[in-house]
Amino acid sequence: MVLNKKYGRTVRTSLRRASLAILAGLTVALAGCAVTNTPAQTGPIRIVATTTQLADFSRAVAGEEGIVTALIRPNQSAHSFDPSARDLVAAGEANALVSNGLGLEEWLDSVEDASGFGGTLIVASAGVSLSDDDPHVWTSPRNARIMVANIVAGLQSARPDLREAFAANGAAYEAQLGLLDEWATEAFASVPAAKRILVTNHDALAYFVNDYGITFLGSILPSLDDNAEPSAADVDKIVSKIRASSASAVFSENTVSAKLATTIAREAGVAVYSGEQALYADSLGGPGSAGATYIGATIHNVTVLVTAWGGTVPPLPEGLTS
Ligand SMILES: [Zn+2]
Repeated sequence: MVLNKKYGRTVRTSLRRASLAILAGLTVALAGCAVTNTPAQTGPIRIVATTTQLADFSRAVAGEEGIVTALIRPNQSAHSFDPSARDLVAAGEANALVSNGLGLEEWLDSVEDASGFGGTLIVASAGVSLSDDDPHVWTSPRNARIMVANIVAGLQSARPDLREAFAANGAAYEAQLGLLDEWATEAFASVPAAKRILVTNHDALAYFVNDYGITFLGSILPSLDDNAEPSAADVDKIVSKIRASSASAVFSENTVSAKLATTIAREAGVAVYSGEQALYADSLGGPGSAGATYIGATIHNVTVLVTAWGGTVPPLPEGLTS
């Protein structure tokens, strides 16, 4: 069962209806009825987070007091979600459900209903200044700090007995994000503005680009959704744009096949960064990868971009750990 998010496209109504029917059936099988659960108020806090980044923020805030389940898996698109029975059980037991908001998780109501979720719903993007309708707010470390503050407040409301631990862990992690932002600012400052030209698979880095004075030339997929498919005309357009610019590379993303990016880079006569050098945008990487955490993924992205553009990557500040 796949619950898809499509920007500006016809929603696959029949598929959606079928998915909801399956979800509803699963709920009956799991819980026996559609009641709203009352989460336990003792022991560790149980948190379900929609995206890999929100799960990482939640782990940082909850620390040893938390058991965190991420719904979207490492290296998976953040624009569709295929819930397993285990995901619904975790949501049914959760004290808090951490969401991005801004229309990213169109499937969230279905998961709440199907799981009998009865905890605190946290919308982590609340209070972030928005650029257009783009939900990818987390790519900016400055926005990440706002999201972490929202998670702290939400978890404190879900489990007041643990509020001091959440405040202390949240403050320590926000300080790390501050160091990350200062380091990234210094790294990008080593590249002349005219060389900071970004071409990616899909338009996921608007907030990151705004923070660091990067010009976003365009994306291979003409959409905010990495499930979209470009037409031949879209491909020709981006190739012409790259040729007419001073862009030196195309950057693939970890959640998308690099095939198209490779073809386009070849046609435009520029380098392609893919595989282990792909950027982490929609999802973090798996355990042990450079992008296993939000801080690690951002360090990776900054390093790949600054190196590709001929800049100098400064040493990591003392106290910043990925
Ligand atoms: Zn995306």
